[in-house]
Amino acid sequence: MSYLKVENIYKQFAGKVALEDVNAEFEKGELVCILGPSGCGKTTLLRIIAGLETADGGKVIIDGRDCTMLPPSKRNFGIVFQSYALFPNMTVEQNILFGLSEQKKLNRKQLRSRALEVLELVDLTEHKNKYPFQLSGGQQQRTALARAIALSPGYLLLDEPLSALDAKVRSKLRLEIRRIQRELGITTVMVTHDQEEALTMADRIIVMNNAVIEQVGAPRAIYERPENKFVADFIGTMNFYHNSTGDFGIRPENIILTKNKPSENYLTGKITFLEFKGAMIRVYSKLHDNCEICADLPAETAAAMELTENDTVYLRIADRHLI
Ligand code: ADP
Ligand code: MG
Repeated sequence: MSYLKVENIYKQFAGKVALEDVNAEFEKGELVCILGPSGCGKTTLLRIIAGLETADGGKVIIDGRDCTMLPPSKRNFGIVFQSYALFPNMTVEQNILFGLSEQKKLNRKQLRSRALEVLELVDLTEHKNKYPFQLSGGQQQRTALARAIALSPGYLLLDEPLSALDAKVRSKLRLEIRRIQRELGITTVMVTHDQEEALTMADRIIVMNNAVIEQVGAPRAIYERPENKFVADFIGTMNFYHNSTGDFGIRPENIILTKNKPSENYLTGKITFLEFKGAMIRVYSKLHDNCEICADLPAETAAAMELTENDTVYLRIADRHLI
């Protein structure tokens, strides 16, 4: 039985539909990313799960119980937003103790010991007496995470928790959130518009667009077997072509490119443009043969292969997706 479930959720704002009959299930202990472009309804869905927003139709089931009408305070979740929302006049430890003060069953000593325990978990022990302005963005967000998990909630909701951070801190925190989530085994729903974030962190991804769910699946399945053009286009790079058999898409890494003429099954092209990306290089080539693909074909290959514009190259399509 799934731990968290939303059934036929419908929501509109002033006549504009934000969620159209959305159904989703979240298993105990898994991390699910809700992924989609800005404005597609991700935050609204998360807020409905939290009870911070009321749906116009549908149900929210938590641990087998219909919680649709339950106020947020009774739903037993922890939440982290994009903006850290820490109290600026309190230290890291006080910020966490404040959240814990709702916990009536623990005495002062127990509260402190729990605060220190979660600070250890997010690796902030040595910063516990600092104020938010003395912390980096990443440390502020780890404080917010510590505060969210301090009460040992039944589930964790994260709304773009890494969006405000720079790339390096973001990828470090991705790993950290994943480690903590696994360690606690806490059911987590994370909203993001960043496909790389979803692919690297999630057990499963829910891809949304325009108020509806387009596809649900494990990262690899979503990437390798997109069910429609939107998912194929939104996740990774997919170039679309049309021929007599219909529309199909090809990912750059599924084009095998060589400088030496292979013995069979290849297309001949001339390099029109090179895009250096560090370890990899994107190679655009114009095909010579009278073939079904007339546009420039982008391939991706190791940058170690020395290529120059106007070079003749040989290409083979390893995999294509029919859309
Ligand atoms: P996302 O998180 O995917 O960017 P949101 O869930 O925030 O999208 O918003 C979905 C749609 O609902 C958008 O068109 C947005 O403008 C609209 N919306 C969200 N919240 C409100 C609100 N409180 N009042 C009016 N419109 C809203
Ligand atoms: Mg949002």
